[in-house]
Amino acid sequence: MKITGQSIIGFRQGGFRPATNAGESFGATNPRTGEPLEPSFCSSGPNDIDLAVSLADKAFAIYGRASGRERGKFLRTIADKIDTAVDALVERAELESALPKPRLIGETARTSGQLRLFAEVVEEGSWVMARIDRADPDRKPVPKPDLRSMLHPMGPVAIFGASNFPLAFSVAGGDTASALAAGNPVIVKAHPAHPGTCELVGQLLRESVRECGLPEGVFSLLFDSGNKVGIALVKHPLLKAVGFTGSRYGGRALMDVAATRPDPIPVFAEMSSTNPVFILPGALRENSDAIASGLHASFTIGAGQFCTKPGMVFLPEGVSDEPFIANLQQLVHESKPFNLLTAGIRSAYQSGIARRKTEKGVKLSAERPWSGNGSEIGVNPALFETDVQSFLQNPELATEVFGPASLLVRRSSRAELLEVASHLEGHLTATIHGTEDDLREFGDLIAILKTKVGRIVFNGFPTGVEVSHAMVHGGPYPATSDGRSTSVGSQAIFRFCRPVCYQGFPQAALPDELRDGNPLRIWRMVGREMTRDPIS
Ligand code: NAP
Repeated sequence: MKITGQSIIGFRQGGFRPATNAGESFGATNPRTGEPLEPSFCSSGPNDIDLAVSLADKAFAIYGRASGRERGKFLRTIADKIDTAVDALVERAELESALPKPRLIGETARTSGQLRLFAEVVEEGSWVMARIDRADPDRKPVPKPDLRSMLHPMGPVAIFGASNFPLAFSVAGGDTASALAAGNPVIVKAHPAHPGTCELVGQLLRESVRECGLPEGVFSLLFDSGNKVGIALVKHPLLKAVGFTGSRYGGRALMDVAATRPDPIPVFAEMSSTNPVFILPGALRENSDAIASGLHASFTIGAGQFCTKPGMVFLPEGVSDEPFIANLQQLVHESKPFNLLTAGIRSAYQSGIARRKTEKGVKLSAERPWSGNGSEIGVNPALFETDVQSFLQNPELATEVFGPASLLVRRSSRAELLEVASHLEGHLTATIHGTEDDLREFGDLIAILKTKVGRIVFNGFPTGVEVSHAMVHGGPYPATSDGRSTSVGSQAIFRFCRPVCYQGFPQAALPDELRDGNPLRIWRMVGREMTRDPIS
């Protein structure tokens, strides 16, 4: 596989459409060495953006009507190609991200696994939530019409991936897989931190589109050295929805652009989160060592560059937290330095740490001793401590520091823990460590947390997000732009479709999913019952 540095916009019989590449060229950098990586990439020009969205709109007329079996075949083709190309993908992703090889191999498997999960969902077909209310011509005072509804795809979707998952939240990641599964053509804006990995995966997607005989506009990949292409893409009048994974700043910028269009469109932005952890008295008394080592692993895994990293940890009063803290301090001192994904993320981490050191009421609890001469690329993990009143008075302490750092908030009374919980903004996760007695005593804490997050973890750690049917990787704003959604797991498909109701339609004009005979044998709600049976 060869990286060309060119956008991928459809194909014509006998050759690819050349991009105009009207923008600046840019390159990737090896975060381990700071060296530039070949080749250089050409930013897409306005004509490329227009062509990609226009082709997607044209393709929607066909792809939006493809059967579940056809879409499933397409998703499985992409997955198979990714599995075959794993060595090339991992080699390039390692150069561009400094993430360790085993992690990238796992991430590649997760990426193809996600595609196959969505293939299963659309092949089975019940995800469209078909509902049938039969007519009742004798109803008084007015007859009841025949009403049938189901979910339909929306049209061209723009996808923005994050730097920290060059495969699983990128070109063929969960956002793309769920949008394609629902029947939407996709235009991906490549992440500038890993453009080579993006192009390699983009080539596999393009080959899959061709092999499956789908229209060329089903998939495009655009490059940009800055924000211009992304903004123009979200403003394009034919675009119907946006999937974004990344920082709060970036997500908010795209939400605002989409909301101020003449026809606002939905943006499903999965953004930053600080993932509070509550260690309750019984758990701290009984399980301090295991919680300390699990917590350290969780806030330093992937160099702390996970949106589910536990960034603030609340400790109770009445039980000595000193052994727990001493344990964590030792683990931090023994840590190795970490490579971060990009120079920008490194300097944001360093300034975040420097700022935290000067915050009122905050003290540095532990930092790996610095042994270098200042020219290194790696960063040190850091642990901070504060008290609950300082925490409540300074909202800055609840914000994400992206990298291997966490904050301990010590000696909170039960009332203070509840006050902290009720002041939390939206997060992806909250974690509780507790015994059965703790759970009985803190039932009201869980009641508050379920209004604040998408996933509550009990006696575990928030990093490591299972891709499955029940997973919720979302949460109220600002964790996401829409707290009713998840970006991980099969329910992610619901972001990129909308319900349509057919009233009084003849059988022949109804989609298969809504016909009396139920030819697809899907689960449907008929009246008040879920059934796969045909109706007469
Ligand atoms: P990022 O800087 O927001 O970048 C994400 C993408 O959005 C990039 O393609 C970026 O392009 C684009 N972008 C950013 N700002 C933009 C703007 N103003 N206008 C148009 N496009 C814009 O995020 P990142 O640094 O790659 O990722 C790290 C962040 O992602 C962390 O905060 C982490 O917690 C979060 N994250 C969240 C999840 C989740 O599921 N919730 C998962 C992984 C990561 P440019 O770089 O060219 O601007």
